[in-house]
Amino acid sequence: ATMPPLLSAIATAGRHGVLVKSAVVMEQLGQTQAVALDKTGTLTEGTPRVTDVRPLPGSGLTEDALLALAAAAEHPSEHPLARAVVDAARTRGLALSPAQDFTSAPGVGVTALVNGATVAVGAPARLLVDAVGSASTDAAALAAGLASGLEDGGRTAVLVQREGIPVGVLGIADRLRPDAAATVAALGRLTGRTPILVTGDNLRAAARLAAEVGVEDVRAGLLPQDKVTAVTELERAGRRTMVIGDGVNDAPALAAAHVGVAMGRAGSDLALETADAVVVRDELATVPTVIALSRRARRLVV
Ligand code: ADP
Ligand code: MG
Repeated sequence: ATMPPLLSAIATAGRHGVLVKSAVVMEQLGQTQAVALDKTGTLTEGTPRVTDVRPLPGSGLTEDALLALAAAAEHPSEHPLARAVVDAARTRGLALSPAQDFTSAPGVGVTALVNGATVAVGAPARLLVDAVGSASTDAAALAAGLASGLEDGGRTAVLVQREGIPVGVLGIADRLRPDAAATVAALGRLTGRTPILVTGDNLRAAARLAAEVGVEDVRAGLLPQDKVTAVTELERAGRRTMVIGDGVNDAPALAAAHVGVAMGRAGSDLALETADAVVVRDELATVPTVIALSRRARRLVV
């Protein structure tokens, strides 16, 4: 017997490196009318590197001590930024103290007990809210200044706090995927509107990257639930929305979307499980290809 068009399209998508989880999903891919893209790990390669290590003057920490402290707290995390921090410490040959009582908050950062002190590593805008108004106001102002300087340069700034007091800032940078701009353009042509960017990262770095790939609508500083809200708004406006993401923070948005697509290599287990389709071969440009495939298959079905 000849294979039904949607099943045959699934096989073809597989050859292009996209795992489509069902015939229903294969059909839904072609119905996409709007696309929301994640930044880190989706538009970028997802292998960020630490570029700047800045201990605050009053912290008494050297660059190495700051990096080792941050890496100890980040060690249990699977976030790409955490891997960047741990790799940077390893590259410098730093010994990491064990972390206890590790917790992580998607879109915010991590906390852990390191050498008896509570260490927090994460988004400056989120952590500094707690530090302002406390005894560490000066350190908070200094850290905020350092962070915005790094963000103006397109970096993701990560704040390091010990016992609630800012002790330093790390600058982290990730490379744009080579096919990011072409994919944004192709998705725009296929859906009739330019994709939007939804990211937990800071607005300065996000806007800079968006300009490079041709995205105008940038939503930054989003928590996982805010990404869901952005998707729900598009859906309410009558547009079947595709979300492309990679992280734990994207899982709720992937679930809320008409079709959720996860980037496989950088992707967290939760994102891969939640998504309707997975980009197994690490090429963003395969997403518009499978949308076109779906449309061709549906013409054969009806
Ligand atoms: P994106 O939406 O671009 O994938 P995330 O929501 O994963 O970004 O992260 C948003 C922000 O939260 C990061 O830019 C960072 O400031 C902070 N953050 C989240 N997890 C971590 C972590 N493990 N270490 C440091 N910072 C983190
Ligand atoms: Mg991400």
